[in-house]
Amino acid sequence: MIRKKLIAGNWKMNKTATEAAPLAQEIVAAAGRNTDVDIVVCPPFTALETVGKIVDGSSIKLGAQNMHPEAGGAYTGEISAAMLRDLFATHVILGHSERRSYFGETDAFINKKVTASLKNQLKPILCVGETLAEREAGTTLKVVQTQVEVGLEGVSNDDITNVVIAYEPVWAIGTGKVATTEQAQEVHAFIRELLTKLYGEALAQKIRILYGGSMKPANAPELLAQKDIDGGLIGGAALESRSFLELINAAAAAK
Ligand code: PEP
Repeated sequence: MIRKKLIAGNWKMNKTATEAAPLAQEIVAAAGRNTDVDIVVCPPFTALETVGKIVDGSSIKLGAQNMHPEAGGAYTGEISAAMLRDLFATHVILGHSERRSYFGETDAFINKKVTASLKNQLKPILCVGETLAEREAGTTLKVVQTQVEVGLEGVSNDDITNVVIAYEPVWAIGTGKVATTEQAQEVHAFIRELLTKLYGEALAQKIRILYGGSMKPANAPELLAQKDIDGGLIGGAALESRSFLELINAAAAAK
């Protein structure tokens, strides 16, 4: 398999820096030397520095959950790519459906963030996925196609393998409803085909496409065994070391 599996934990707006420390310590103690799977933890901004110091020297990478596309200036409350790099973040989640729905982020705005992150040597985890209404209307693939195409506008062949795509059906996030393996694999294969059209077969085969949406230790092995599912973006199950570590083990077993 040319794509190493990747398990990324999205802690969302959970854990103060004080609460984040023991979780990060437990993950480092149990998986900090794991090189079979790429592991990324994405705490809230306020815990990045604390968690960054704990994962330093281990194989666990640090990610942020968002950033602003501009390099700096009058953007009250925002965080730039350079600020994240300064804390040794290597990844950043962009276009999460919660950002799209609660904060009105558009594909064009998310695209600016994707290109800004790459310019600053941050690997974007670009989230895409349809709502329940879009799935029921039969427009899933069309919606995902636009999100991928616009999200990646201007991303060069040189940069594309630094991008991770996360397919997260909105109706499966935090709801306990998981996409069936067939539903997930269908969309992952479609995204791979789209990437092949955009970047050619060789590069498309190297790009990781994660599944996100109520991934848990119980359903992970089946999802991770799918040909085009290269890992998971994990919300709820990333907030406890035990379930997060089980997901890492499931990814290692599926490689
Ligand atoms: C997410 O927030 O990206 C996510 C997939 O959440 P959950 O695993 O809780 O559904």
